[in-house]
Amino acid sequence: MKRGRNAYTPGQRPLRGHTNEFPKGKGGVVFCKVCNIVYFKKSWHHNLRRHKNLHEDLAVAFVVCPACAMIQNGKYEGRVVLTNMPPLVRENLENLIHAFTHRAYQRDPLDRLIAIKKQNATFEITTTENQLAAKLAKKIKDVYKKVRVNVSYGHAKDKASEITIAFLS
Ligand SMILES: [Zn+2]
Repeated sequence: MKRGRNAYTPGQRPLRGHTNEFPKGKGGVVFCKVCNIVYFKKSWHHNLRRHKNLHEDLAVAFVVCPACAMIQNGKYEGRVVLTNMPPLVRENLENLIHAFTHRAYQRDPLDRLIAIKKQNATFEITTTENQLAAKLAKKIKDVYKKVRVNVSYGHAKDKASEITIAFLS
């Protein structure tokens, strides 16, 4: 997902189907109608707490934020597949994944865990950001050590990267 100062500037990179919904002018804000995060000063925030120039006549618009749009469309940008997981680590690992991705979400509302699909010794974890998947994989390697990590980066634009972590028995 593109982000940063110039990502998602109104008029420059509108969401499909919402071309004219961004308020014009500097003071406007845009809410995600799915998760309620809010876009102002060229990036997404959890709320308006840091918005210092609130006017009563503030222009307000509603769209679907890039993270929710990705989830609604059944897409993801990062995928981590854990295989051969010993039964004893599964619960801890699940807690680690939730805690780690929640911290990332608190820092940036577009960084999200989409799902953990569990099937016995295999977990498939999807995220809205490939960097989040990469950091999560590094964290898992740091904590569990006896793992083998394989990364395949998405090369084309917006292509998801894929990380496999095999537990060594
Ligand atoms: Zn949203």
